[in-house]
Amino acid sequence: MVKKDRLIFWDIDGTLLHCGSNGRKALNRTFLELYGITDALGKSPVGASMDSMLLGGIMKNFGIDPKDFPKITQHYKTVLKEILEQDNNKRILPGVIPILEAIDKHPQAINALLTSNLRVGAEAKLSSVGLNKYFQIGGFGDDIGEKWDAAVKCIEMAEKQYNTLFPKDQIYLIGDSCYDITSSKKIGIKSIAVATGWTDISTLQACEPDYFFPDLSDTEKILEIIKV
Ligand SMILES: [Mg+2]
Repeated sequence: MVKKDRLIFWDIDGTLLHCGSNGRKALNRTFLELYGITDALGKSPVGASMDSMLLGGIMKNFGIDPKDFPKITQHYKTVLKEILEQDNNKRILPGVIPILEAIDKHPQAINALLTSNLRVGAEAKLSSVGLNKYFQIGGFGDDIGEKWDAAVKCIEMAEKQYNTLFPKDQIYLIGDSCYDITSSKKIGIKSIAVATGWTDISTLQACEPDYFFPDLSDTEKILEIIKV
């Protein structure tokens, strides 16, 4: 049997899909419904750090017992699902499905998630547009640490699961933010930046990704880079 030897990490928001500011809306509604707090997130940027850090910061600010974390994430899951169901503007971004399909069918390649979303948030977002079937493995924003820590943990998990070793230059992270590029550099994997999110082209390019695309519609070129 051919061993798996390339791992392709995908960021979610602004890379696989767009669902506006639904994550932010759902978090704010969660704190409002559970604790009567209005605009709990304030100006905190969503996606610039892991959701666990973001939530931890809010909980600390408002003096919420850390033991409430599971209750908050459960409520968030319900609210986010409801908001996503009602949103007719959510969409999968160009080129995403053919690339996911090609990786999925390739005997040596694996699709994986790498997101600052909590696992429940990631699952709700992916299933709202039918992309959950492509992912069996991933790094999520539940754990304490940064995005690159979640990547390292996921690589270890994947190596165990598939009984293989992934050479660093055959692990890629496709993402729309400088946080994705920085995370790739931290652990020596390849970054593929795409400008379909909230970061403009010049800012993304200034972060010096290994590869850059305005969007993922040039699927042939991308599959060539990841050797699929
Ligand atoms: Mg993103």
